[in-house]
Amino acid sequence: MSTPTIAQSAAAASAPLAQIPHVVGGRHLRPDGRRGAVFNPATGRQTREVGLATAELVHDAALAAQAAQRGWRDTGLAKRAGVLFRVRELISARADELARIITSEHGKTVADALGEVARGLENVEFCTGLMSHLKGEYSEQVATGVDVHQVRQPIGVVACITPFNFPAMVPLWMVTTAIAAGNAVILKPSERDPSAAVWLADVFREAGLPDGVFNVVHGDKEAVDAILDDPVIRAVSFVGSTPIAKYIYARAAANGKRVQALGGAKNHMIVMPDADLDAAADAAVSAAYGSAGERCMAVSVVVAVGGVADPLIAKVSDRIGRLVIGDGLDPASEMGPLITREARERVAGYVEGAAGEGARVVVDGRAHEFEGDGFFIGASLVDGVEPGMRVYDEEIFGPVLSVVRVASYDEAVELVNANRYANGTAVFTRDGKTARQFEYDIEVGMVGVNVPIPVPVGSFSFGGWKDSLFGDTHMYGPEAFSFYTRRKVVTTRWPEPSESQVSLGFPTH
Ligand code: NAD
Repeated sequence: MSTPTIAQSAAAASAPLAQIPHVVGGRHLRPDGRRGAVFNPATGRQTREVGLATAELVHDAALAAQAAQRGWRDTGLAKRAGVLFRVRELISARADELARIITSEHGKTVADALGEVARGLENVEFCTGLMSHLKGEYSEQVATGVDVHQVRQPIGVVACITPFNFPAMVPLWMVTTAIAAGNAVILKPSERDPSAAVWLADVFREAGLPDGVFNVVHGDKEAVDAILDDPVIRAVSFVGSTPIAKYIYARAAANGKRVQALGGAKNHMIVMPDADLDAAADAAVSAAYGSAGERCMAVSVVVAVGGVADPLIAKVSDRIGRLVIGDGLDPASEMGPLITREARERVAGYVEGAAGEGARVVVDGRAHEFEGDGFFIGASLVDGVEPGMRVYDEEIFGPVLSVVRVASYDEAVELVNANRYANGTAVFTRDGKTARQFEYDIEVGMVGVNVPIPVPVGSFSFGGWKDSLFGDTHMYGPEAFSFYTRRKVVTTRWPEPSESQVSLGFPTH
């Protein structure tokens, strides 16, 4: 492609920005009223505008969903599965298109975005088996002539509120299962990278999903509060930061809604003295700096046990020096920019503060030079980190890896178990007994043994413990079918009319 002339650039700069529509009742609605800016983080330039919905629009979407849900609930399970099979085919065929949309608004590399799409598709595949996932239970002859069965019915209208860091995968985790179970959905994606959500709603429609079953309403706190308070919406799934997750959990529950709210993380990777240090260094670098550390399962702390810290730090530093950081659309890039300029400044602030708190900045990502105005920062490595330092206590959500030195396995476990977050963790060792003990001892929801990012496959479910999850059901997989359905238990008896009699005693067997 030739370089644009100055006149072309000026014309493009003054052209109206693309408007990202809401999707309500199958129609694209142009935003009116308050708007948010959507940037390309690799250039730092605003590329699109997104409407920020009012409570009124949220309620309109809830009513459209409620109307559509009645017919969707009546749709046979085989037909529902058929829609999801077509969704899978359409997304697979156009994965590259979706990945590029993600990269243009999030900044992650196209290869990473394709990985996100693949992990989202895993749940679509799981949901195509809805016939088995929605199966009921039956007990014959619980008393003489009495049978009991349990069915799973949809909840009705559910809302899904999602974070910026997985603009396709997290919606696919939530929305697909909710729809498979016979609900209608309002998706409120992150206002920072909202286009993928609209793309997904259009694909579900193309696959044959009736209008109004999958709605997208963009917005910020105003829209979220309207969701939490709207009586038509019966359940809320949320993924995002811990303070907001706590707020969502409390307010939705106070309004009588079913709620699952996944929060932030601080994931520790324990490296035992017997670990293969090259493999551990590869894993630490991949898991700390992939997607610029903007993953809830990113490794942000390496816990170096015994004498492994010095050789491990040397190997990690060496690998950082070879990382290619640049525009995610460039196939050579391994790491892209952060989501916003503010995020970049916040991450730089943690590196700045670490030295002041007594830690040693081994690699300073702020020193990495970049051309242009993109929201880039280099990878940082900080040694000598301890609890009580901000760089340890807070979720940074950027490409900063801390090293905490401990003397023993017991000290490592104590450190992890004392942390308020408990999303993921991993142990690197060649010893099966240590690995088994770690799995037994550690108080974290998802554990890897020589696997740095242990996101469970789609036939299990995803979720952390403690301040990483408020509620009691995990995302996707079997637990999601429990979240998005209500169980109804029916007790049946067909007595002869002649056997009937008045009995005021409490029924027993
Ligand atoms: P965020 O909490 O800022 O936003 C998440 C959602 O909440 C967005 O849709 C946003 O519009 C909305 N929101 C933001 N502020 C709000 C407010 N004051 N009131 C009501 N709604 C509000 O999170 P983010 O920055 O988009 O995403 C990054 C965070 O998400 C990190 O903390 C990360 O660990 C977490 N995350 C967790 C998981 C997990 O599975 N546990 C997965 C992905 C991301």
